[in-house]
Amino acid sequence: MTDDFKMAATIEPMNNCNIIASDEMANDKMRLTDAELLRYSRQILLEGWDIDAQIRLKNSQVVILGAGGLGCPVSETLARAGVGHIHIIDDDVIELSNLQRQTLFTAYDVGQPKAKVAQQRLAQINELISVSYDIARINRDNAKILLHLSETCCPDLILDCSDNFATRDLLNRLSVSHHVPLLSASAIAMTGQLALYEPQKQTGCYHCVFGSTTDTTDAEVGTQNCTNSGVLASTTAVMASLQANAALQYLGLTRNPLTSQLLLWDGKRMSQRLIRYQQDKACPICS
Ligand SMILES: [Zn+2]
Repeated sequence: MTDDFKMAATIEPMNNCNIIASDEMANDKMRLTDAELLRYSRQILLEGWDIDAQIRLKNSQVVILGAGGLGCPVSETLARAGVGHIHIIDDDVIELSNLQRQTLFTAYDVGQPKAKVAQQRLAQINELISVSYDIARINRDNAKILLHLSETCCPDLILDCSDNFATRDLLNRLSVSHHVPLLSASAIAMTGQLALYEPQKQTGCYHCVFGSTTDTTDAEVGTQNCTNSGVLASTTAVMASLQANAALQYLGLTRNPLTSQLLLWDGKRMSQRLIRYQQDKACPICS
């Protein structure tokens, strides 16, 4: 894992770990520069969104697990919107079959590591933020390091853009144990799901909604994924946009638009449903 550990030169410490070296740096975090005011002006003009919201975004630090069909478009939107630090984790290399939906990549990138190329593209898209990456496959042994989780230092939000139950289960356990909110999205064929779990509020976790998948492989539970079932290019784009919409509200306005609700999107019917859930008082993860 450590051999694959790469960090961008522009990386800043994750949340609560920032060492303020001078008053000038502290002031920079509390205001927007002229370049930032101009770049985000259409956002700041929004009713209900103001400079304070934009400053909160500037000081936000997120980890995105997966630079695929969801991770590409959601990271692009967060970068353009001004989320201050984005860390991307992925162990895959870019293949031709990815280009149909993985919007940060081109044919020239085939064979290159997804996380590295994504970091480069996002840094080009918005030079006012910082972006870092790890080329690594997350597991129980390396997860805390990759996700920047410690007793005193955690990101503001983890975005689950993975495509398998084992990773989702691991992210959920760490989200609960470290009290870090988890924004979990999935997309398959022409359908998608989205939820924003807030462990600190005891409103339920991924396990409360979907039950145990820990001891079962994806093949055993008959899991569909993009490799075996296909996915329409628009499905990942829509779900990533909904995921970004929830992330920006949560980070900028400290508001969860999906509190205790699972969003189900059906592309064939062009329909969206919200299903209420509550904490399972017998949940072995969060209760
Ligand atoms: Zn739970």
